[in-house]
Amino acid sequence: MIRAIYPGSFDPVSNGHLDIIRRAAEKVDELIVAILVNRNKSHSLFTVEERMEQLKLVTKDLPNVSIDCFQGLLVDFARQKDAQVIIRGLRAVTDFESEFQMALTNRSLSPNLETFFIPTSVEYLYLSSSTIKEVASFGGDICGMVPCEIKQALMDKYKK
Ligand code: ADP
Repeated sequence: MIRAIYPGSFDPVSNGHLDIIRRAAEKVDELIVAILVNRNKSHSLFTVEERMEQLKLVTKDLPNVSIDCFQGLLVDFARQKDAQVIIRGLRAVTDFESEFQMALTNRSLSPNLETFFIPTSVEYLYLSSSTIKEVASFGGDICGMVPCEIKQALMDKYKK
């Protein structure tokens, strides 16, 4: 049985993230989407609780996907959850350097933990949560970038 963790900030979850979640969930037995709780909360737009709710909402049709959050080292969280695989999405070459460094570091900390990279679907190549927030903050159209439920949540945030 393969239990995998897909870690990230998901602030907010994008269609690019959701594409990776769906494709990963087809290949593993259990997928835990885990929000990394940043010590510096002021950097995130949505609270961890809001992000967990959003992720639960957009993955509700995927029975082998669960949502969690963690603080500290990913390898410790993986050990605690008895997970053998880390899932990461890869966009442009710019992702590669830091993702490769992270994967090698995690493997040196926990040799049995493998990182599986899933290349983005081409329509999400340049999609990132920070770009989405920037467009939304200026009232731009974020249709096609985030699931509908998240679009409303983003608009509400920036209305305040
Ligand atoms: P972001 O970089 O958008 O802020 P996260 O820090 O939450 O996202 O990233 C979590 C994981 O999701 C990383 O492996 C990242 O490369 C991947 N990811 C983010 N956006 C996309 C996308 N558009 N397509 C594929 N993977 C993505």
